[in-house]
Amino acid sequence: MGVKRILVGRMKHHPIICLVDSSTTLKQLRQIHTQLLITGAFIIDPQVFGKFVASIALNNSTNLHYSDHLLNKCARPTLFALNSMIRAHCKSSTPRKSFDFYKRIQRSDDLSPDNYTFNFLVRTCAQISQGKTGLIVHGAAIKHGFDHDPHVRSGLVFMYAELGCLSSCRNVFEEIPNPDLVCQTALVSACAKCGDIGYARLMFDKMPERDHIAWNAMISGYAQCGQSREALRLFHSMQLEGVKVNEVSMVSVLSACSHLGALDQGRWAHAYIDRNRIRITVTLGTALIDMYAKCGNMPKAMEVLWSMKERNVYTWTSAMNGLAMNGFGEKCLELFSLMKQHSVSPNEVTFVSVLRACSVVGLVDEGRRHFDSMKDVYGIEPKIEHYGCLVDLYGRAGKLDDALNVINNMPMKPHSGAWGALLHASRTYGNMELGELASRKLIELEATNHGACVQISNIYAETKNWDKVNEVRRSMKSKGVAKQPGCSVIEIDGEVHEFFVGDKSHPCYDEIEVMLGDISRRLKLAGYVANTNPVLFDIEEEEKEDALCLHSEKIAIAFGLISLKESVPIRIVKNLRVCRDCHDVTKLISKLYNREIIVRDRNRFHHFKDGECSCKGFW
Ligand code: ZN
Ligand code: ZN
Repeated sequence: MGVKRILVGRMKHHPIICLVDSSTTLKQLRQIHTQLLITGAFIIDPQVFGKFVASIALNNSTNLHYSDHLLNKCARPTLFALNSMIRAHCKSSTPRKSFDFYKRIQRSDDLSPDNYTFNFLVRTCAQISQGKTGLIVHGAAIKHGFDHDPHVRSGLVFMYAELGCLSSCRNVFEEIPNPDLVCQTALVSACAKCGDIGYARLMFDKMPERDHIAWNAMISGYAQCGQSREALRLFHSMQLEGVKVNEVSMVSVLSACSHLGALDQGRWAHAYIDRNRIRITVTLGTALIDMYAKCGNMPKAMEVLWSMKERNVYTWTSAMNGLAMNGFGEKCLELFSLMKQHSVSPNEVTFVSVLRACSVVGLVDEGRRHFDSMKDVYGIEPKIEHYGCLVDLYGRAGKLDDALNVINNMPMKPHSGAWGALLHASRTYGNMELGELASRKLIELEATNHGACVQISNIYAETKNWDKVNEVRRSMKSKGVAKQPGCSVIEIDGEVHEFFVGDKSHPCYDEIEVMLGDISRRLKLAGYVANTNPVLFDIEEEEKEDALCLHSEKIAIAFGLISLKESVPIRIVKNLRVCRDCHDVTKLISKLYNREIIVRDRNRFHHFKDGECSCKGFW
């Protein structure tokens, strides 16, 4: 973005060269080239050749090879021509070629690199994200005395930002006497990208003026680090300040809504896009699909998919992932066939959805065929997550030996995902021996993983091996294994409310408590008995410290019951896996209160209705 602002209007064109700007085909370029040769323009003014080559290179990247070819034949190109080639390649799909032209400058007897050379070269380093090369180029800029040039400096901030080297980025930035908007924005995105969102915000607030690029950098920083509510808050401030909103802003906003499962705000964002005639590009359309899918509204996600004029593999995959997550395995597989009919080749992410879909439906053979086709048909080497899916596929179908076989024969070290899937299957099918093996492996891999420790403790508790249970609990205490606090989010009238375990901080807590009392009375009448065995940890991820401890989704559901109209489904997003007790309770609530309840947990959706759940007890 910075490059454009710097070089505009630098060159004065020969009248014939101006034609290059409007010429797109190679044939037209050749005609102009011939004209220049006939009029002897290159001989009268050697600069004309450089300008000609630069115009071709910078105007239309498809003709870049023609200027490559012309320069290769030229014995003594000008610095301007070579710099233009570095710049053109930096922005093209062949950024590494920039270095060929830099080498030509270095080899030449009468040329030496200038500030423009380094300005473009550092941006190439950012493009190819190679830290070592970046350091060498920075060193060369210092050697040639251009490290204090403002354009090179801002380029270096940008480069270190892209490379994720926050301290170098800050060092360069602090030495700039009057950093401009571009530099400041580069620093803000660097801090956000490296996870120092607090410092990014500090820098952002300090900026004397901010354009939409700066706002977008900050908003996407919040969205990417999971601070979705802050991302949405900042977006509203951006609108209040009257800053132009574009596609980039909306992609971040939608990603924040997806993360929160905030359907109302997501719908609002969609309407905003329509109202402001923001063009739905492939990226924006894909973000819309992802938002609707992750908010549990698959019909709307599919509507967006079909309305799009252009779709790429990410678009199709987002919809497929949504279908698999929402439990529509068959529909996901149908979409996969359709995508292939549209001549779109699947990528490795697509196969994760395909394998998950087969797992959900229980199509073991078909899943295996798809897995094998990855390498045989599409030349995609299966990654560790694909093996994890395969273990899950066999495990869910009760083929525990096959699942173990996959783990024993996978070409890489089995990860916690694979062992976790086996553990889950072992417990479902009551194979305690295999379950214990899997949990031991899990602990080996993740000694400080709270979820894994809870799982192994449960295995021992189920086999009534109390000594071992105590051992695990003692070791968890001594290692200081911290649990991730369970948190549930519910959106009411466009406002997001967050609840933690046993959380009484909500301003409406008195009313929530009354509703919780009502729920527990009705549950008791329906014959529900809570599992209060004090030795058992709560089944999956969360620890049940005492029987009265309320998991966050129960509080969120109670709040939903008092705040939403009877016909409106209650939508909850939970950061951990739903525990068995909460799952049982939610099923009953959906029946007793005649409410549809949709819970998105860490892995999937649960659509509760009339006392049943779409996951059919597998999750
Ligand atoms: Zn629970
Ligand atoms: Zn369920």
